[in-house]
Amino acid sequence: MEWLSETDIAALVDRDLALEAVEAVFMAMDAGEAENFPVVREAIGYQEALYGFKSGFDRNAMTLGVKAGGYWPHNGEHGLANHQSTVLLFEPETGQCSALVAGNHLTALRTAAAAATSIRHLAPTGARVLGILGAGHQARWQLEAALDVGAFTEVLAWNRRPERMQALEAIAERRGCGFRAVSLPELGEASDVIITITSSFAPLLTEAHVVGPTHIAAMGTDTVGKQELDPALVARARCFAELPSQSAHLGECQHAVGKGLMATSDIASLGGVIAERVPGREGSELTLFDGSGVGLQDLAVARAALERARVRGRGQRLDLA
Ligand code: NAD
Repeated sequence: MEWLSETDIAALVDRDLALEAVEAVFMAMDAGEAENFPVVREAIGYQEALYGFKSGFDRNAMTLGVKAGGYWPHNGEHGLANHQSTVLLFEPETGQCSALVAGNHLTALRTAAAAATSIRHLAPTGARVLGILGAGHQARWQLEAALDVGAFTEVLAWNRRPERMQALEAIAERRGCGFRAVSLPELGEASDVIITITSSFAPLLTEAHVVGPTHIAAMGTDTVGKQELDPALVARARCFAELPSQSAHLGECQHAVGKGLMATSDIASLGGVIAERVPGREGSELTLFDGSGVGLQDLAVARAALERARVRGRGQRLDLA
């Protein structure tokens, strides 16, 4: 089997490759060619960590595997990112393990690619102002990927701790965009596209904050109990997801569904929009992509990295025998 380290992933996977792999997975899922298996995600009662497994099989790409890991909120004290994960890929023919792939950088790339895919397909025409809530590890990747797919000229940012937004400001400046740290009401009102990527457990953006024909990529809520948006705001939007059932259970839609403001059947598959099977944005409405993350996205990017590694002679061989 092969071993790809974090350094290998950084060298092998660029944002374009991640976007291509993730968009293909959205379509394979929508076509019923790829399936995510039930997610295991548990609080382990130690270090406040959430630990689990995301696995799946893409019969189209012949990708079978699992991502194991989770979220350790105090890792900053150890100089580590809060998300820690590793991917295992298996041969669909035999079940033999074909690769062990470091998953931290990969997670950030695939999560940003999922949000960027939604922006590419659902942002209002002429979107110029990008708002972002959160300035943690994922936020930088989110910002870079959104700037790849949209013609944004200005970035508005909000973070619970405003002093932590320098990295976002530096990215915006390097990419030729203006940057302003703003209040939540200003961000909601002035942004054409909003990315939410915090670990909040209470609504940050209210219904009154968002007024325009905005697209929101809600990426932070990936667990039961987390929340970034007012349920009334979610219920007002036309909602899209990787997997509507998962979003209704553990994504941002869980709260609006739980309150009876909307039903799971109100959430459409983003893959269906990409495949032009489901209508996307229609005029000046509010759209929401509830991106709670699926294992197949990780596996697809890991698989793309492995294929590139084989071509470039990168990574290490480990003997299983
Ligand atoms: P991080 O710990 O590096 O950063 C957390 C961010 O959330 C910071 O900006 C922090 O200020 C903010 N925050 C924390 N608590 C808050 C609160 N109560 N109110 C407002 N802001 C708060 O984490 P990260 O790696 O950047 O991940 C951010 C979120 O994205 C997490 O919830 C994580 O689980 C989620 N995530 C989702 C996916 C997905 O596929 N959808 C993938 C990776 C991460």
